[in-house]
Amino acid sequence: MRLVLVGPPGAGKGTQAQFIASNLSIPKISTGDIFRANVSGGTELGKLAKTYMDRGDLVPDEVTIAMVRDRLSEDDAQDGFLLDGFPRNVPQAEILKKMLADWGQALDLVLELVVDDDEVVRRLAGRRTCSQCGRIWHVEFDDKQDDLCDACGGTLFQRDDDKEETVRHRLEVYQEQTAPLINFYADEGILVGVDATGPVEEVTQRAMDAIRPFLG
Ligand code: ADP
Ligand code: ADP
Repeated sequence: MRLVLVGPPGAGKGTQAQFIASNLSIPKISTGDIFRANVSGGTELGKLAKTYMDRGDLVPDEVTIAMVRDRLSEDDAQDGFLLDGFPRNVPQAEILKKMLADWGQALDLVLELVVDDDEVVRRLAGRRTCSQCGRIWHVEFDDKQDDLCDACGGTLFQRDDDKEETVRHRLEVYQEQTAPLINFYADEGILVGVDATGPVEEVTQRAMDAIRPFLG
């Protein structure tokens, strides 16, 4: 299964990606996570990406696409993958299509996580990430009294780009650059929308129900 998750920042892509990828035994490839790992590792890629990420802008396509091409070339991605956060504009989607076609592959399905703006803002304001295992939590919805990960005991942190002002800009970037992907993939006939409101497990269930007919 070659799957893409799209939706606004805060829709729950990362949260759902961890469960869906594990259910389907495919690697979860999150461009945001790869960029953040490079930022903390102090690599050249990280230094370049950070200036864009801090503003809430997209990292330039050449850089992002080269990184995804390398990751998709690895052995574990040959029989399927779940992309979270890529593609994020129509040029990235077109290049992804061509790249996969060159390898005799194609996307099977694009799942759109649908939530309204108010919910997105609430979700981003309370988002915390584990510095050790990368698991995503929410202060209010997961009733986090401490700053420790319930899964591994690691320390939780708030992302720099989840500040209110940056969030607003990221939502604009989503509307302008990423939302057009919905029509792009609808025209390709591989888009399915999933209601991403309600408890995490219910959303996972809805996503798995949407995926099942596309499993080979
Ligand atoms: P969210 O989960 O809130 O939507 P991500 O973790 O996916 O955010 O992305 C964080 C930041 O990383 C983005 O704001 C952008 O700067 C950069 N980024 C991630 N994926 C891409 C991409 N496909 N193209 C360009 N920039 C990206
Ligand atoms: P994205 O990757 O789309 O930016 P995340 O998966 O990081 O979104 O989720 C954003 C925040 O919302 C996190 O704090 C996460 O714990 C929380 N969240 C995700 N799904 C739900 C849900 N169904 N109900 C309540 N909170 C959720």
